[in-house]
Amino acid sequence: MDYTSKKDLMVETQLIPRGISDPRVIAAFRRVRRHEFVPEELAGEAYSDHPLPIGKGQTISQPYIAALMTQSLALSGSEKVLEIGTGSGYQAAILSTLAQEVCTVESDEHLLRSAMTAIGRQNIRNVKYRLGDGTSGWPEEAPFGGIIVTAGAPYIPDPLKQQLADGSRLVIPVGDLSHQVLTVVERAGDGFRQYDICPCIFVPLRGRFGWGE
Ligand code: SAH
Repeated sequence: MDYTSKKDLMVETQLIPRGISDPRVIAAFRRVRRHEFVPEELAGEAYSDHPLPIGKGQTISQPYIAALMTQSLALSGSEKVLEIGTGSGYQAAILSTLAQEVCTVESDEHLLRSAMTAIGRQNIRNVKYRLGDGTSGWPEEAPFGGIIVTAGAPYIPDPLKQQLADGSRLVIPVGDLSHQVLTVVERAGDGFRQYDICPCIFVPLRGRFGWGE
């Protein structure tokens, strides 16, 4: 299977025509080998235009949605970024090429372990992992130059807003269990500006400031 040309085709047909234009984001999606983050039997579908199951009822996001969320963070490269919902580790691997450091939190031990293995295999060394409920953020590592939540939340968890550095953005799907809206919250001093990007469908964000355990 020629994964390199599938990966290039994904960027050319799914990302660029839909408005992914940040050259650094495009380079990240050209570089990271998505087929190494999906179950082996689905590797042939890794670059298809839809999400894929990764076990434990969870999914790796559709490439376009991952790219859109990444672009919305508007990273320059010097940031420390927080991700809630490590899942397969793909999004963390993408972020690791666009930021100084990535802190990622996952509540499922099995998923976290296989994500760590997949990321380690790609020789990525700037990712820190934490097992637990990410809805409280990671206070010891805050503030963050960007926060991305890759599971659907009933509302925006306040601790995540508080852990945003001035001028930085939080990207999070907010809505009910079956449909959400991709939402961006931008911090300006003590104030926050909020706007919607598009409708989306994510697995639920569990935890204290999510849908509960
Ligand atoms: N970003 C992932 C996709 C994540 S799917 C990727 O690139 O593959 C959503 C993940 O969020 C699941 O793995 C789920 O276990 C995790 N999750 C749900 N609620 C959580 C919480 N409160 N804290 C941390 N992780 C959570």
